[in-house]
Amino acid sequence: MKPNKNGYYGKFGGAYIPEMLYPNVKNLNENYLKIINSDSFQKDFKSLLKDYVGRPSPLYFAERLSKKYDTQVYLKREDLNHTGAHKINNTIGQILLAQELGKKRIIAETGAGQHGVATATVCALMGLECIVYMGEVDIERQAPNVARMKMLGAEVRPAKSGSRTLKDATNEAIRDWIAHPIDTHYIIGSVVGPHPYPDMVALFQSVISEEMKWQLQEHVGRENPDAIIACVGGGSNAAGAFYHYLEDEKVRLIAVEAAGLGIDSGESAATSVLGSEGVIHGSRTLLMQTDDGQIIEPYSISAGLDYPGIGPLHAHLIKTERAEVFSATDQEALQAGYLLSKIEGIIPALESAHALAALEMAKFRKDDVVVVNLSGRGDKDLATYIAHLP
Ligand SMILES: *Cc1c(COP(=O)(O)O)cnc(C)c1O
Repeated sequence: MKPNKNGYYGKFGGAYIPEMLYPNVKNLNENYLKIINSDSFQKDFKSLLKDYVGRPSPLYFAERLSKKYDTQVYLKREDLNHTGAHKINNTIGQILLAQELGKKRIIAETGAGQHGVATATVCALMGLECIVYMGEVDIERQAPNVARMKMLGAEVRPAKSGSRTLKDATNEAIRDWIAHPIDTHYIIGSVVGPHPYPDMVALFQSVISEEMKWQLQEHVGRENPDAIIACVGGGSNAAGAFYHYLEDEKVRLIAVEAAGLGIDSGESAATSVLGSEGVIHGSRTLLMQTDDGQIIEPYSISAGLDYPGIGPLHAHLIKTERAEVFSATDQEALQAGYLLSKIEGIIPALESAHALAALEMAKFRKDDVVVVNLSGRGDKDLATYIAHLP
């Protein structure tokens, strides 16, 4: 599914940016498709995905999980990628694009540090300067990822304003981009931000469903599953897992948001349920806001899902009922994480555990083929899992 030429999916999307960013975004907009579709870009992108990231990621039939839920569950193993999650697919794509555009300096924002690490990784790979903006509070909470970024040669700059978390880091990154329009590329970490970012990031992540098609053909003799489940923070792993099935109405697309302590608890990140239309980070979408438009701080046990907005593609898919949406609480995600660890020997990222929790909620038939996008591995979440062990 392509946005229209102004970057809208239905009524969501667009590019709401300060005038001083027009030249950067225009330059990107005019060139991204031409560059991405060129033979030389595709050759470099595919070769790095194969030899550096370790793609294709396996599609694994989870036999014991399937027995438990009485349906056919396959796991798309993005957890096995280099750096431990799907985010590297996007940063590889964007760093190649930045090089084509002649950029010498890379900036990024990060919340939990996962996108920061994926960005620092590709900057090290290409020998480009890397500055990652991160809220001061997050720097403290996510010390191991801060150490990783430093090890990889990136500079981590603290955002000291507001609540000193992700949205403040994003503001700092935008300020930096305005100050360095010529030499700098801003690598956004999900299908959010002004057009063309949502489309561009979805394209880079679409390798997930591209592989699923031939992998399902091998496993079950048909390209299409009956359902795909993915967790949604900004929505990039879900966009990648849904991408090649968006037009096929027979494939159920199931998005899972973080309910935190419960949808009505005031401590939640279930954006599509609690959110209303507005503009965040440069696009019109659903976001959690007060009546007078102040962003409400989201909460989830999983750092990758506590984002107050949702990518415009997903806002559109959910509002038009092409996608179903569920929300899983911290407890439900933890339980799903313990279960997968015990019966399949795979410790999932807490984000991915939210997707697994939907196996308890959605109804499937016995012979349904259900793919869960396992967006990342749980090493980073071990301390949280252990602290909550029943
Ligand atoms: C960052 C992250 C997410 C959430 O980001 P999306 O853009 O919604 O995919 C999900 N899973 C993992 C493992 C992550 O690191």
